[in-house]
Amino acid sequence: MFAHLDTHARRIEGGGTPDHVWQSWPGLSELPVIDAAELVPPGARAVIVAPHPDDEILACGGLLQLLAAQGSALLLVAATDGDASHPGSPLWPPERLRQVRPQESAQALHALGLAPPDWLRLHLPDGGVAGMTPELSAALAAQLRPGDRVFTTWRLDGHPDHEACGWACASACSASGATLVEMPVWGWHWATPGDTRLPWHRARRLCLSAAQLQRKRDALRCFASQMQGDPSTGQPPIVAGDALQRLLHAWEVYFL
Ligand SMILES: [Zn+2]
Repeated sequence: MFAHLDTHARRIEGGGTPDHVWQSWPGLSELPVIDAAELVPPGARAVIVAPHPDDEILACGGLLQLLAAQGSALLLVAATDGDASHPGSPLWPPERLRQVRPQESAQALHALGLAPPDWLRLHLPDGGVAGMTPELSAALAAQLRPGDRVFTTWRLDGHPDHEACGWACASACSASGATLVEMPVWGWHWATPGDTRLPWHRARRLCLSAAQLQRKRDALRCFASQMQGDPSTGQPPIVAGDALQRLLHAWEVYFL
């Protein structure tokens, strides 16, 4: 999966670090705990910038529930429509993915128990966000205001689109006075416990209840295009097995 992606040494290939390896590492459960009200204080707005439809749930499907419960204003930004997830697939041509993947995101939000949020869709090229970083940064800066808490994928996550969203958000936040929080998604794949390439000193752990974790699991089932194999090409699911389990822990990790 993603064997073609190689961002310097942060390789997304093979099955990645098995989830049981992460689960059995005490360093994870020793990360300092943070709560939703610290991540998004009362009165602040949360802006979630997702490189692809599904990243908003994989990275922060637990936080989204907690933010809804505490009444935080929310803006979701979809950088791409995720239409490059199935290259050469007769079953999932780009035009179908462009329609279906945003619908899957909306269904997943509903499964989390959220009302339909404000959604800004930028329709950037899937796989090509790195070439659009100035445009993304400008589009975000036009939306952001001081006090916003912006959540996006980590600048060194390993997937080029994820990294580009991280850099664009960092730039837009510094221009607008918003605060950036980064989230690892593919980092769990190529990194290993205690890996010095991860900024553990910035990492905080948001604990999820069993019910919140179950709703996150239910929400992820809405992404059928990503969670099911493709019989037309014989390709396995894009997100399954360890790739899914690594993001279904009883906590989510945020880099402050
Ligand atoms: Zn992604």
